[in-house]
Amino acid sequence: MSVNTVSKDQFKQFVAALIASEPSVVGVQAKGDRFVFDDLKSADALRLDYDVSILSPRKYVMPQKETLLKFEVGGDCQSVQDGKPLILLGVHPYDMAAINQMDELFSQDEYDTHYMCRRRQITIIACDVVSPSKNVFASSMGTATVQHGYDMLLTDVGESIIVEVRTDKGRVLMNHMPAARPASEDDLAKRSAVWEKNQHVLNKHVLECKPSYLPKLLEKNYDHPVWEEKARLCYSCGSCNQVCPTCYCFDVQDVVNWDMKTGSRVRVWDGCLLENFATVAGDHNFRKNRSSRFRHRLYRKGKYVPGKIGGQIACVGCGRCITACTADIANPVNVYNQLMERTDIG
Ligand code: SF4
Ligand code: SF4
Repeated sequence: MSVNTVSKDQFKQFVAALIASEPSVVGVQAKGDRFVFDDLKSADALRLDYDVSILSPRKYVMPQKETLLKFEVGGDCQSVQDGKPLILLGVHPYDMAAINQMDELFSQDEYDTHYMCRRRQITIIACDVVSPSKNVFASSMGTATVQHGYDMLLTDVGESIIVEVRTDKGRVLMNHMPAARPASEDDLAKRSAVWEKNQHVLNKHVLECKPSYLPKLLEKNYDHPVWEEKARLCYSCGSCNQVCPTCYCFDVQDVVNWDMKTGSRVRVWDGCLLENFATVAGDHNFRKNRSSRFRHRLYRKGKYVPGKIGGQIACVGCGRCITACTADIANPVNVYNQLMERTDIG
């Protein structure tokens, strides 16, 4: 690992060099008064001062639709692994934490070659948050800063940018930054000050218990009235799932081509709040009512997924679901705090 410092002009030259020489660079850019991850065409378009992107960078590690295999009807099939080199520039710590969780989930028991092949080809340049969004609560979830997963981490300290290089992929990128100098004690102190500040300011909704208590809290509240109270207003639109960096549920569909001889198996995003998410053969829906779907989402974040990945809570506090929910019921902190009100922590 090395830590370097560059001026903002030098950093802009670095981004221009990446765009000119790397096959594909994606970075955060303005879209109206909001921000998106998209193909980066110029260094000037990059906005590392963004608050939060509409969709998380999940769409690059796990596309909304991907082909898993191609087949001949009644014949052979061929696995498709379509990863291409990609640089993802400007990933906030909470989104990095979400990608770290997905890396763990897709590489355990059922090793997912499609996800892992794509992921290996992605170089991540993370960046610390400059402008907190109105609904972020990463501090409550322990993701205001991040310590691993990225190849390079950028911290804007005002007049310059501190560049931490974590991996060989990051070291190679440093060839595009010839003017970088080793960070001084003063630079490192400024970076620590940013981290310290972000621990406080990225907390617009305060979770009133430690995240590690959530599995136990949920275990005690399966029949709590809050599920019905909130779900009464739910449109089952699935927006909270779509914007979430940690949601990874998918549907698999076989599509036969017009020639009726060949086809492909595709994986598409799904969402547990959608009415037919849990419909199985025979048209049986085992989560037919809204409250059971609403509850499932928060159990998945706070109990089921943590059970698979060493207790890590599958909500990183990005706040996107809060902004996306027109019924104003998706805020996980509100629900968990409501459960806390009537639960003896013991
Ligand atoms: S549940 Fe909401 S706040 Fe938590 S990670 Fe998902 S979108 Fe972000
Ligand atoms: S909780 Fe909100 S965003 Fe999620 S499905 Fe219901 S209405 Fe839509």
